[in-house]
Amino acid sequence: MTAQIIDGLALSRKLRSAFAQQVQTLTAAGKRPGLAVILVGENPASQVYVRNKIKACEETGIHSVLEQHPASITQAELLARIAALNNDPAIHGILVQLPLPEHIDADAVIEAISPAKDVDGFHISSAGALMTGLAGGFWPCTPHGCLKMLDDIGYELRGKHAVVVGRSNIVGKPMAMMLLARSATVTICHSATPDLAAMTRQADVLVAAVGREKLITADMVKPGAVVIDVGMNRNAEGKLCGDVDFEAVKEVASWITPVPGGVGPMTITMLLANTIESAQRA
Ligand code: NDP
Repeated sequence: MTAQIIDGLALSRKLRSAFAQQVQTLTAAGKRPGLAVILVGENPASQVYVRNKIKACEETGIHSVLEQHPASITQAELLARIAALNNDPAIHGILVQLPLPEHIDADAVIEAISPAKDVDGFHISSAGALMTGLAGGFWPCTPHGCLKMLDDIGYELRGKHAVVVGRSNIVGKPMAMMLLARSATVTICHSATPDLAAMTRQADVLVAAVGREKLITADMVKPGAVVIDVGMNRNAEGKLCGDVDFEAVKEVASWITPVPGGVGPMTITMLLANTIESAQRA
């Protein structure tokens, strides 16, 4: 079997062109969606991510503001900027690019963002809404993008066994909650899982969100499984790659996301979706 590719770029293009229409309508009604992105310091990877987010906003017609601060900014100064943006009616979403310098408490910064503008979905109030199934929060963009890809291939999650490898607050845990909300039976694996392969081999849907090149090999995948690769790693040649041994696993899986061109573009697409949603709610 050779797996079909879940093309995150193509799906992103389709969704973003629909978003551009929505933004036009909102703008005409005097509610142009606005996103503020805060970048602290000079982390090169963060600079690339932030640039891509701003570019995506521009292409969709979303008003965007990039605030760049030196790594020496104090926590109090950063919190003051967030308070100002919380009160800015032109801004519907606030994103603080992580990681932050060590002298700043990232949790305190995330909790300072108004839940109404928490388009990254990292605030405890968004996490709680996802956990309880209550409306009003925002779903974290990366796992939400994964779910959109499963929806796009028409995959019915109800009754299926989903295995998520990784339990971070930004990917693994919210992914598991979203799959559970769709009535999948969910297993969460992490670094203390004794026999990872025994778990992953049971998966109808396997989501890898670890950050280790080729952690998931073909013998760890059930024939016909759907494999979603969240990982973003650099291999020995410096090329971007995921957590899944793509070439080997695609011979076993029924559907698979590539890296690049899979989950990555969908993450930004769902950020745009959350920003538009926030403007609609405002
Ligand atoms: P974290 O480092 O926060 O979490 C990694 C998780 O993997 C942890 O739960 C850890 O377990 C688990 N883990 C580590 N080693 C193993 C192992 N050998 N077996 C099983 N589990 C293991 O990473 P993130 O969740 O933030 O990101 C994961 C990956 O996804 C990274 O490559 C990141 O770059 C990528 N990413 C991609 C995005 C995109 O847009 N495509 C967006 C966000 C992230 P434990 O908790 O026990 O330590």
